[in-house]
Amino acid sequence: AGTAPGVDRPLDLAGIGIGPFNLSLAALAHGVPALRTACYEQRPAFHWHPGLLIDGATIQVPFLADLVTLADPGSPWTFLQYLKAHERLFPFYVAERFHIERAEYDAYCRWVSEQLPGLHFDHRVDAVRWDHEYELFEIDFTRLGGPADDAPAPRPTGADEDGRALGRAYARNIVLGVGTEPYVPEPLRPLADAPNVPVLHSCDYLEHRERLLATGHVTVVGSGQSGAEVFL
Ligand SMILES: Cc1cc2nc3c(=O)[nH]c(=O)nc-3n(C[C@H](O)[C@H](O)[C@H](O)COP(=O)(O)OP(=O)(O)OC[C@H]3O[C@@H](n4cnc5c(N)ncnc54)[C@H](O)[C@@H]3O)c2cc1C
Repeated sequence: AGTAPGVDRPLDLAGIGIGPFNLSLAALAHGVPALRTACYEQRPAFHWHPGLLIDGATIQVPFLADLVTLADPGSPWTFLQYLKAHERLFPFYVAERFHIERAEYDAYCRWVSEQLPGLHFDHRVDAVRWDHEYELFEIDFTRLGGPADDAPAPRPTGADEDGRALGRAYARNIVLGVGTEPYVPEPLRPLADAPNVPVLHSCDYLEHRERLLATGHVTVVGSGQSGAEVFL
């Protein structure tokens, strides 16, 4: 039957999802040239909880807990390198603010994501299987659109019913960095799904903020960090 495409040169490491977790892994792996890595993300670009990037909201940990510093302070992907590239190192030093704004952290991660090789946005992973014959993981994905990238391993395997390219990659190891899905409790779901009812999950807060402010009365269900930020 011949050799299946891609098995002859598999990835050492495939990351599924490009949030802060796998972006950090990809940035650290970049410092190990012999390692063949690739990460796949369904979104068109890096975005960190965009519905809750509220003005003034800061991350919970000091900037030193960026993508790489605590493991590799000499990396080109530190938050300080990002500031230097944007000519903001001295203003940051003078401000003496260790807890940076969430929007700034999002921008820093996007800066890294736009330069690191081997990151494939607009790629939704649909299935992962273990191939017993080759002793490799098979990763099936759908190419959702957007500009071409420098994908090393994906091989086109066909198209779905909407004409989007399907592809497959092979890897010795997989790291799942798919995060968590916003959760709407069952009794609230019909209300949250109805287009004209002002019930929404906090992950969509910013998009609907003006509409909420105009209602004059808002009930926040849940008193974790997101609920507290929406309340404030
Ligand atoms: C508002 C808010 C603020 C937070 N603030 C902090 C903080 O200050 N400090 C902190 O440590 N933590 C914070 N957290 C916790 C948060 O979970 C982590 O910061 C972080 O986002 C987790 O990173 P991750 O990479 O594991 O997942 P995520 O950031 O959730 O990223 C997962 C990615 O995987 C992609 N994905 C999922 N399935 C697939 C698929 N099948 N194919 C391709 N891609 C896929 C998703 O599109 C997504 O981009 C916060 C969370 C929220 C909601």
